[in-house]
Amino acid sequence: MCLSSCKRVRGRLVAVRHGPLWELPGWLVGFILVVVTGYVAVIGVAVRSLPLTLRDGLLLGALLACIAATVELTKREGENAGLAVDVYGVWELPIAILLTPFYALTVPVFRCALTQWRGRRLVAYRRVFTTAILGLSYGGASMAFHAVTGTPLGVSGLAAAHPTVWILAAVSAAVTQWAVNTIMLVPALKGSDPAARIRDLMFDRQTVTTDVTELCVAVLVTLGTAISLLAIAFALPFVTLLQRSVRHASLVNASRLDSKTGLLNAGTWEREATAEVARAIRTRSPMAVALLDIDHFKSVNDTYGHLAGDKALQAIARTLQAFVREYDLVGRFGGEEFVMLLPQARPVDAYTIAERIRAHIADMPIEAGPDIEPIQVTISIGVAALGSSWDTTVGGQLTDLIAAADMALYQAKRNGRDQVCVITENATFGSRLQSVSTSPAA
Ligand code: GH3
Ligand code: MG
Ligand code: MG
Repeated sequence: MCLSSCKRVRGRLVAVRHGPLWELPGWLVGFILVVVTGYVAVIGVAVRSLPLTLRDGLLLGALLACIAATVELTKREGENAGLAVDVYGVWELPIAILLTPFYALTVPVFRCALTQWRGRRLVAYRRVFTTAILGLSYGGASMAFHAVTGTPLGVSGLAAAHPTVWILAAVSAAVTQWAVNTIMLVPALKGSDPAARIRDLMFDRQTVTTDVTELCVAVLVTLGTAISLLAIAFALPFVTLLQRSVRHASLVNASRLDSKTGLLNAGTWEREATAEVARAIRTRSPMAVALLDIDHFKSVNDTYGHLAGDKALQAIARTLQAFVREYDLVGRFGGEEFVMLLPQARPVDAYTIAERIRAHIADMPIEAGPDIEPIQVTISIGVAALGSSWDTTVGGQLTDLIAAADMALYQAKRNGRDQVCVITENATFGSRLQSVSTSPAA
């Protein structure tokens, strides 16, 4: 995985900023310069390990050809916005372990130049920084491997060490590469977007699964390559397929989400919520829908500009995620409206959750830019809940719930905004709204 474009995953996060270098905080610019300078300096030191034997030269050529083939064969899949998901480590780890440190350090130059040329174009400093941290991480992997085995560099190391020790050393090298890369990425991600959630960006289930798979396959390919160069030819179709499938999974995942807020988009929310409502009907479980609308949002845009308005949308989206339970569904319904499906929530539970969110947002200063005072916004929330007495013959469809929540939201706006309104139990879904209350019946 690398910062070749900065990533979004099921973790529903906000896209990391893609602005020019000078828009980054000063400390981050300094960090990038230090990393890149350090990288160049380390290559300068390692240059004495440049000479290769004929066999190592062939191995290098074969692995570089595989990198080029993987770039070409998977570029149609494209890359999701966000940290790119890839498995190039499968080809790069053998270079780091089987060749001298100079090649460990410089192999990402080849791959990054190729992806910049043939794949997605990135702002130059981002590509250079990515190359530097990848190069340093493979340099670390090379050092870790040779520190553990104490064997000579190159393919002959396999014959000199016990196979189990050799494999464990390869695993420790791969883990070192991952750790160094991750540690150096975190400040860059945080610096370019302080609101970015590292756990969602780098440690969600899909990313961890991909990283572990990449590591395991990389160790196997390294072992196979150390035994015979022929192993590379057998690995190529499998690695191409692997890269395609992880790309595809990440693109499918990204297409479920709203790109501005990282919440579920309206279509996905509706699909997933429909299934949840059907389940609630089957099991006669309570369930609630809450519709949220930012108050006077137009004047926020008019006063502070659309970019500041977007920051407010993103801050509210993060608050919603933080306040709901793992199995609740939070989506962006449109413009400045959000929607939450709260399974197993009785009216009083839904009210409590909604009121907590409302109160938090009303007190929450939103950082909208370096030259702007923190913005303050309020939201109105309409809640409709399925109670224990509801009857599927008079409604109970998702659309009925949404319509009822919409009426409650309308009432909250009419009552003066910055409040939660709940349709109480004696209202029937799918028929006219009978009563709306700001304090729900349990
Ligand atoms: P009310 O309290 O009645 O909801 O007033 P309001 O101004 O929030 O309502 P209205 O529906 O008139 O305005 C919604 C505004 O939301 C208008 C539109 O410019 C803004 N908006 C919609 N989508 C986005 C977006 O993605 N980014 C930004 N910055 N603004 C958006
Ligand atoms: Mg609106
Ligand atoms: Mg509004």
